[in-house]
Amino acid sequence: MKVVKNISEVKNIVNEWKQQGCTIGFVPTMGYLHEGHGSLVVKAMENSKVVVSIFVNPMQFGPTEDLDKYPRDLEKDSKYCKELGVDLIFNPEPGEMYPEGYCTSVDISGLSEELCGLSRPVHFKGVCTVVNKLLNIVNPDKAYFGEKDAQQLAIIRRMVKDLSMNVEIVGCPIIREKDGLAKSSRNTYLSSEERRAALALSKSIFAGKDMVKEGCREVDILLKKMKDIINEEPLARIDYLKAVDAMTMQQVDTIDRPVLIAMAVYIGKVRLIDNFSFIPG
Ligand code: AMP
Repeated sequence: MKVVKNISEVKNIVNEWKQQGCTIGFVPTMGYLHEGHGSLVVKAMENSKVVVSIFVNPMQFGPTEDLDKYPRDLEKDSKYCKELGVDLIFNPEPGEMYPEGYCTSVDISGLSEELCGLSRPVHFKGVCTVVNKLLNIVNPDKAYFGEKDAQQLAIIRRMVKDLSMNVEIVGCPIIREKDGLAKSSRNTYLSSEERRAALALSKSIFAGKDMVKEGCREVDILLKKMKDIINEEPLARIDYLKAVDAMTMQQVDTIDRPVLIAMAVYIGKVRLIDNFSFIPG
């Protein structure tokens, strides 16, 4: 397995693979890898070669966000990728991705203004720009994204469609800790008391899932129950908890189409997200 920092080197390696008739699976990440990322890599193994990018993308962090303290451990990540059978890690420095004079961005309206876009106004512009650039560099047949970041997945699907990009986007289910907490690199920020309090998110998600499974279609009733569960936890503060159309990210009152029920909740200073989707039969 090679770890490459340079864009032209990645392009050369991938070109060679393509000439040999290989298919390329690509998993973009910010590193500090866990089994959530691992599940994407395992799925990507359906291709002949797997590329993982590890890049903490400055463009998707707002000025008051956790860019500097975002956890990083390339050595551990490399070991994990090697064990999983990854062929290439692309780990550029910010200056390689955004050299002096860089001034292009990819923005997507509507979809990116709801949910996480409300409290993180520059986030999805940064995500779309970096994912677009990474896809141009790696030129994969398929790229793998987690449903953990459901809004991001919807936005990337839209971008790929709107810009007629030649890549298939594959969504992968949320991987959770044994007690239900969705795995996240940001879970490392939690103190032990906060780690316990963070279970409010998955408890609320599981209760909501049960309610819609049992036939609840009224969003008000559903969200009230889900919010009550989170509000029982003194360390938790809801940023948002909404039901939206799974394609447009616009709020819905009734579950009469595919919906995404998504939340962002502060546990102390740590902002965590979780969600579930439901397609009525
Ligand atoms: P990140 O490193 O947080 O930017 O995540 C990289 C990719 O891994 C994104 O597509 C995420 O949605 C995905 N991912 C992160 N955590 C999980 C998880 N718990 N389950 C499934 N996918 C995840």
